[in-house]
Amino acid sequence: MPILVMKFGGTSVATIDRIQRAAKRVSLEVAKGYDVIVIVSAMAGKTNELVGWVGETSPLYDAREYDAVVSSGENVTAGLMALRLQEMDVPARSWQGWQVPVKTTSAHGSARIEAIPTDNILKKFAEGMRVAVVAGFQGVSPEGRITTLGRGGSDTTAVAFAAAFDAERCDIYTDVDGVYTTDPRLCEKARKLDRIAFEEMLELASLGAKVLQTRSVELAMRYKVKLRVLSSFEEPSDAAGTLVCDEEDIVESNVISGIAHSRDEAKMTLISVADRPGIAAAIFGPLAEAGVNVDMIVQNISEDGRTDMTFSCPTDQVLRAQTALEAARDAGHINFHDLDCDNGVAKVSAVGIGMRSHAGVAAKMFKVLAEERINIKVITTSEIKISVLIDRKYMELAVQALHDAFGLDKAA
Ligand code: ADP
Ligand code: ASP
Ligand code: MG
Repeated sequence: MPILVMKFGGTSVATIDRIQRAAKRVSLEVAKGYDVIVIVSAMAGKTNELVGWVGETSPLYDAREYDAVVSSGENVTAGLMALRLQEMDVPARSWQGWQVPVKTTSAHGSARIEAIPTDNILKKFAEGMRVAVVAGFQGVSPEGRITTLGRGGSDTTAVAFAAAFDAERCDIYTDVDGVYTTDPRLCEKARKLDRIAFEEMLELASLGAKVLQTRSVELAMRYKVKLRVLSSFEEPSDAAGTLVCDEEDIVESNVISGIAHSRDEAKMTLISVADRPGIAAAIFGPLAEAGVNVDMIVQNISEDGRTDMTFSCPTDQVLRAQTALEAARDAGHINFHDLDCDNGVAKVSAVGIGMRSHAGVAAKMFKVLAEERINIKVITTSEIKISVLIDRKYMELAVQALHDAFGLDKAA
């Protein structure tokens, strides 16, 4: 029988009632003749609560124990979903990551899936089971410890299962009815896209559009998974949602296809570091070892052999970054006068494959922000995106102004 992967995010399984509604949707696909692999997230808010408990208990926590705690939300929803399906006379069984097993690297907190053996689940399908409910977001390391795939990781679980089982499609059910030109919660003029290219979705996701985890888009692109994002709250329909597809399958598109934002950014500046060969390695090596995800980097011009080095990272990694840099200084590897930390910044980015062939997008973006009197603190660009770091209090204004200026409310 053909296999379908259906993933339900946190809001879609937030209550017993919603689990029931999601189970109903699954049963409709079973009735059409599919064997279904359901990937579930934890109930909405649960993972945040667990992350909070870990931080309260141990600010610079051991990542293995973080994973032990934070993965548990998905175990509950997987069991409940299987029970609900059984109540509806649909043969279903739940699996936690280690039981499949979803084999991952041992990078706790942001592990990557390395292999998903299909034999266990396929054997059950052959015996008449119709739905395998798998706890998303989690796996098992080569050392046999529980791992998690990074926030939003259930999307990646879903796409990885779709690839491993050669599923006909991977449907991501969430609380919006597709991928929009920008976060519809931030900008009421945001427009739903029927299709979006993998490359654009990849950039939007990595720049903060949390509707899909970045890694899930990477996997879908690599393994040619038919990936759809749709709402679990709307009536089922074959044309619903947004299809993430190859660039060639999109007929027309705007120069800019979307605006992404990332709210919880911090900007850290090492003031007066020696400007010498190897200084960047001496700073960013310890940060990488401490698990800090450095994003933008700027080095100032140097004066009298000294310079300032600025970088951005998520706000919840500031303490880790500070600790790592101070340890490197105490060990004599680097030397700086001061460490300045601005916890109140956000990143706003414009993304579009049309940028490859259109000049002037950056200039227009800077002009729009200038007209709103928004100061730009750091800029980075790539072939299909421009990102700026600004004061967080202007983030929504910037998103809305850019959305208007690039005419994203209208189709091309
Ligand atoms: P789930 O719990 O289902 O995984 P998420 O909260 O992770 O859902 O992702 C869905 C959310 O992503 C939406 O509620 C929306 O606020 C946000 N979002 C950000 N950017 C976009 C975008 N461009 N299109 C759609 N949703 C977006
Ligand atoms: N529950 C996890 C999180 O909130 C994984 C997910 O929902 O995708 O990050
Ligand atoms: Mg999500």
